[in-house]
Amino acid sequence: MTQSRAFVSGATASAVPAASPRAVSAGGDRTGCPWHDVKAKLREVGLRPTRQRLALGWILFAKGDRHVTAEMLYEEANRAKVPVSLATVYNTLHQFTEVGLLRQVAVDGSKAYFDTNNSEHHHFFIEDQNDLMDIPSSDVVVGKAPLPPEGYEIARIDVVVRLRRKRK
Ligand SMILES: [Zn+2]
Repeated sequence: MTQSRAFVSGATASAVPAASPRAVSAGGDRTGCPWHDVKAKLREVGLRPTRQRLALGWILFAKGDRHVTAEMLYEEANRAKVPVSLATVYNTLHQFTEVGLLRQVAVDGSKAYFDTNNSEHHHFFIEDQNDLMDIPSSDVVVGKAPLPPEGYEIARIDVVVRLRRKRK
């Protein structure tokens, strides 16, 4: 059995509607050098390229599309000998999300996953492995969206389809 739950994560986050992912990917200042590209990425969205943001951005974005938690990124930073605290990692992930460089994926209350792929798509969540897999947005049709409360608009609808192994 597969359970499916839809999260309307934008309904409460209308404070940051301007950060459209399209505005981020529109810049043409990329060179293929990850370090330089991260610097350009940060400049495009108006974030000062501090040493910590550059280092964390480089670790985050140099490996292609992926889903990370703050703890995972913190561990990778440690292994790469980047001196940051877990709090800084949290702050940086949220700053990157606010400007549209990352997307937060709501899986459950205990863990926030951040997605380096900021294009429109949905997710499988494999429950016993705590692992996320992308679903192309064309594979999911959302039939009926709820009416947002007065004063809010739906920023986007994320679908998380929770998976578990079939019982034999
Ligand atoms: Zn994803």
